[in-house]
Amino acid sequence: MTAKPNGLQPRTLAAQALGWEESETHAVVTPIHVATTFIRDPDNQYRNGFVYGRPDNQTVRQCEAVLAALEEGPEALVLGSGMSAATAVVMALPAGAHIVAPTVMYWALRNWLMNDAVAYGYTTSFVDTTDLAAVKAAVVPGKTKLVWLETPSNPLWTVSDIAAISEIAHAAGAVCAVDSTVATPVFTRPLALGADIVMHAATKYLNGHSDVVAGALVTREVNEFWAKVRRVRSMHGQILGPFEAFLLMRGMRTLHVRVEAQAKAALALAEKLKGHAMVADVLYPGLASHPQHALAARQMQGGFGGMMSIRVKAGEQAAVSTAARVELWKRATSLGGVESLIEHRASIEGAGSPCPTDLLRLSVGLEAVDDLYADIDRALRAANA
Ligand code: PLP
Repeated sequence: MTAKPNGLQPRTLAAQALGWEESETHAVVTPIHVATTFIRDPDNQYRNGFVYGRPDNQTVRQCEAVLAALEEGPEALVLGSGMSAATAVVMALPAGAHIVAPTVMYWALRNWLMNDAVAYGYTTSFVDTTDLAAVKAAVVPGKTKLVWLETPSNPLWTVSDIAAISEIAHAAGAVCAVDSTVATPVFTRPLALGADIVMHAATKYLNGHSDVVAGALVTREVNEFWAKVRRVRSMHGQILGPFEAFLLMRGMRTLHVRVEAQAKAALALAEKLKGHAMVADVLYPGLASHPQHALAARQMQGGFGGMMSIRVKAGEQAAVSTAARVELWKRATSLGGVESLIEHRASIEGAGSPCPTDLLRLSVGLEAVDDLYADIDRALRAANA
């Protein structure tokens, strides 16, 4: 199989999945490689590079090549989930490493860092990463090995300065890794801003169709730390399955058109909901009222993503009741699919979450904006009647 030469824009490369063509039939969609084992050369070598399915797979390699093109990094890895991608980065750190992570971040990773990572000798300081002075104060030179960022961050959509925080991390001898799930490679390029590793819950926008659980990592440099991350994936058996890698690759071919439409619809909805009588606040980086709007406008190119949250004026009961009354929005967890989702996050995140109880998280899909607004407007009014 051959790939087209590089030098093209990421959206062109993604649309054609790098132009892979199957050599026997000239098919424009490549077959799924399912083999777990490969025949040795007569002298026992594996000259074509494939040995076994746990460390490597051809369909996975193709999927990773598309990802690397999207994030403009030299290498990518796909793993069994977003959580396995994030935890692989942590598990590649030396024993006893100190981590700095945001107070507002994906709840399950915060939970794992707080309750599970300590058993492996990792300690984490949680800080407001929108405050550069707080990040500087939390980093311990020589001991802090990882500064983890998530921007925009789930579920308050705060925005952190990737370039400035990468510099702080590097000055202390730490790696800066960014969960860019919500920004997607279309709106933010963390590696170009100085981050060392970009992570995606590929379950969300990269796949985009709510039918694959996957995680992705792309590196800025192929170095010793990246080799350790690769080793963790291999030794812990975290590689993505070939069928999932195929579906993810198919999803990435339409990434740009999906997320550009979703971001446009999210901005329109955010502006409409901002003026709604039953809504106390709309949290969306694209609104001028967002506390880090200026940074978001600088760091995010071409859109602010498809995620937002609303705070319901009448409080928790009205928020829960609104989610119960929508018909078009799907009352479900997750985000980044083509169907719009609504969720009362505080009930999911539990104790220790910074999420207010009156908050509803909205993942904007590809339906008509007027239909989405009419549905949530009706639910908000009925819940407050
Ligand atoms: N990061 C973010 C921002 C997420 O929203 C999620 C899942 O919701 C994850 C990471 C974890 O991804 P996964 O569910 O694929 O493990």
